[in-house]
Amino acid sequence: MTNNKKKVSIIGAGFVGSGIAYALTLKNIADEIVLIDINKDLANAEILDIQHGISDIGDTKIINGDYCDIVDSDLIILTAGRNRKDGETRLDLTADNTRITQGIVRNIKEYYNGGIVLVVSNPVDIITYFVTKQLGLKRGMVFGSGCVLDSSRFVNVVSGYANVGLDSVEAFVIGEHGESQIPVWSNVRVKGEPISISEAEKAEVTKKVRGIGAEIISKKGRTFYGISTCVCHIADSILNNRPAKLSVTSVLEGEYDLFDVALSVPSLIDASGVKEILKIELDEKEVQELAESAKGLKNVIESLNSQNVQV
Ligand code: NAD
Repeated sequence: MTNNKKKVSIIGAGFVGSGIAYALTLKNIADEIVLIDINKDLANAEILDIQHGISDIGDTKIINGDYCDIVDSDLIILTAGRNRKDGETRLDLTADNTRITQGIVRNIKEYYNGGIVLVVSNPVDIITYFVTKQLGLKRGMVFGSGCVLDSSRFVNVVSGYANVGLDSVEAFVIGEHGESQIPVWSNVRVKGEPISISEAEKAEVTKKVRGIGAEIISKKGRTFYGISTCVCHIADSILNNRPAKLSVTSVLEGEYDLFDVALSVPSLIDASGVKEILKIELDEKEVQELAESAKGLKNVIESLNSQNVQV
C-alpha cells in the first residue's frame, strides 16, 4: 500500500466471502473491500445488500472487482470453492477446491504486488499448503484460518461446561481443521487455572467440538457466521498490527518436529502475517496425535502429487 488506507480483497462472494465482507464493514476496519466472484451478479447483490446499512456504522467502500483490482491490497482472503455437503468431511473437497484454487492463484500472481494472503476455503490446511508453494512468498505471508474457529468453539463448550464467561477460558485446538484436530487439554486454563475434568468428560467435549461444524451443516446446510467473525478478528490483527495469539495453519519447517506440512499451532499474528510460530508444551498423547494429524495431511498432499496436481 502506498498510503494509510486499508484495502482487503476477498475471492469468493458466497456465504463465507460475503459474511467476511459484512463483518469487516460492521467493524469498519477496511477502507476498501474488493469482492471477486465468477458469479458477478451474486457479488453485486451482496455488495448492494451490505452497503444498505446505516452509514453511521461505517463507510467502507465495496467494489465488485476483477483480479486487476487486488493491486495494493493489504490482505487477500481466499474463500472460493464449494462447501461440504451433509455427511462429507472437509478432505472430501480436496480435488474440487484445489482445482478451483489453481486458477485463482494464477490470476492472483498476475497482479499481486504485496499483502498477506489468508486462506479460508476448505480443506484449509491443504489449500494453504498449495497456495504457499504456488505463490512462493516470504515465510509467514500465506497462512490459513485453520483451527481459529475450532479453538473458539472449544472455548465456547468449555465455558459452558465450567459455567464461566468466555473471557475466563483460554483454550486451543491444533492440527488439522478437520477430523484429526486436537483440543489441547494440557493447556486449557479456566480463570488462569488448569481445568479439573475426567477423561470421560474430556472425550465428550472433544467429540462435541469436533462435530459441531457437521452438526450445523446437517441443520442449516452451511456455516458462515462463526468463520466470518474469526476472519474479521484475524484481519484486525493484520490491518491494525494488533498482535494476536491464534491457532492458524501455516507450513511448518521443523516446529514441533514437523516439516513440509500445513497445520494449525498457536502462532503470533500481526501486520507481517505469521510473525512467529509459538512453541507450547504438549503432553505425550497430544504430541502423538499431532504427528498423526500431520501424517494424514501429508498423505493427502502426496495423493494430489500422484494425480499430477502440482503442489
Ligand atoms: P458458497 O458456495 O456460498 O460460495 C463459494 C463461492 O465461490 C461461490 O459464490 C462461487 O461462485 C465462488 N467461486 C467458485 N469458483 C470460483 C472462482 N474460480 N473464482 C471466484 N469465485 C469462485 O460457499 P461458502 O459457504 O461461502 O464456503 C466457501 C468455502 O469456505 C468452502 O470451501 C467452505 O468449506 C469454506 N469454509 C471454511 C471454513 C473454515 O473454518 N476454514 C468455515 C466455513 C466454510
